[in-house]
Amino acid sequence: MAVALTSGAAVRPAGAQTATTTVTREQAVRHVLAQRDEALRSGDRAAFLDTVDPSATPEFKARQGRLFDGLRSLPLASYELRLRTDEVPDLAGGGLAGRYPGADAVFLPPVEAHYRFTGIDTIDAVDGYYYTFLLRGGRWRIVADGDVNDVGLPSARNLWDYGPVSQERTAHFTVLHDPADGKRATVLASLCEEAYARLTATFGRPAPAQIVVVLPHNLDQLREILQATFDLSNFVAFASASVDRDEDWQSTAARVYVQDANLSRSRRDFQLQTFHHEFTHVAAFPLAGPFVPSWIHEGLADWMAGGRLAPTAVDGSDGLLPHDWEFTTGGGDSIVRAYDESTSAMAFLAAKKGKGAPLDLLIRVGEARVAPGTSDYRVDQALRAVYGAGLDQFQKDWKGGR
Ligand SMILES: [Zn+2]
Repeated sequence: MAVALTSGAAVRPAGAQTATTTVTREQAVRHVLAQRDEALRSGDRAAFLDTVDPSATPEFKARQGRLFDGLRSLPLASYELRLRTDEVPDLAGGGLAGRYPGADAVFLPPVEAHYRFTGIDTIDAVDGYYYTFLLRGGRWRIVADGDVNDVGLPSARNLWDYGPVSQERTAHFTVLHDPADGKRATVLASLCEEAYARLTATFGRPAPAQIVVVLPHNLDQLREILQATFDLSNFVAFASASVDRDEDWQSTAARVYVQDANLSRSRRDFQLQTFHHEFTHVAAFPLAGPFVPSWIHEGLADWMAGGRLAPTAVDGSDGLLPHDWEFTTGGGDSIVRAYDESTSAMAFLAAKKGKGAPLDLLIRVGEARVAPGTSDYRVDQALRAVYGAGLDQFQKDWKGGR
């Protein structure tokens, strides 16, 4: 499918195309994305919403308006939408065309938003979108962003999808929040600074200079933002970053999300420990590749945030290091046990090899980015270097020694 472009985002009717201006649908859709980027930069709400197809649902149109207002409220240093047809050329199956009978063509390419906050992000934050583009009357426009939700490809949601956000800034933190939650954001920002002091005292490597903390207005927002398939009621906070595979598996800008229905009800020292735990994740993300299992991530964060204590026995433990899925499924007690086992394993490693050993282990496993072998193999190799024996032996020693 080809459409004709004159210049910028102005598109002639399909019948008017000429040989010199014929472009592919990829190029045409890139112009649509560029129109959104430019509209955002210049504050032109009408131009932004002009990229939305008139046949879109009122709900989608309203959401796009809120997204524009939300994005405009952010301290953006840069924002760029990129077409990712190099990964998947088109997700619009045959059934999708039937959903839009008035369209001349339907195109559903993966799109990424790359952006940075001014004075905060030193690498891009990256969000994935699945926009359905329709060709009608010679113009490509966006009609929906949820057409492949049911195959597990939801478009990104952020706090700014719900409208303008406010920010609470301190020396090392930016707490993004709903304008209605300013009081709580102020309290959280000061807790974060206290936890940051704990982080720098324990991490043993340079901590990130600036961290973004997101305070969703309610649990529904948090659920949409995290796109979580597990029960959020077992958690108090989350640290999250995605992966930029273009750069050999680099972590993207990390964010910390607060589950404040739980966190606000916890005692103050637990809140501090929670932030210390999440900030340890944020500091560790750039060091961690795809092979670092959850027990290393969580064990390191919990052991550091808990005061780097000696190993203790874990009630009900089977003596096996937990699998990744045990950290989100199986119910509250079982999840807590997975964390405690990981913490105990890291404490055991530190007792044997020194307080730097847990982070050394993460870094060793994390060094492998694009490499053959399973996570277990990488952990086995790293344990041989850091602990002096492989995974099986480490597990046995830990079981006997805690
Ligand atoms: Zn964690």
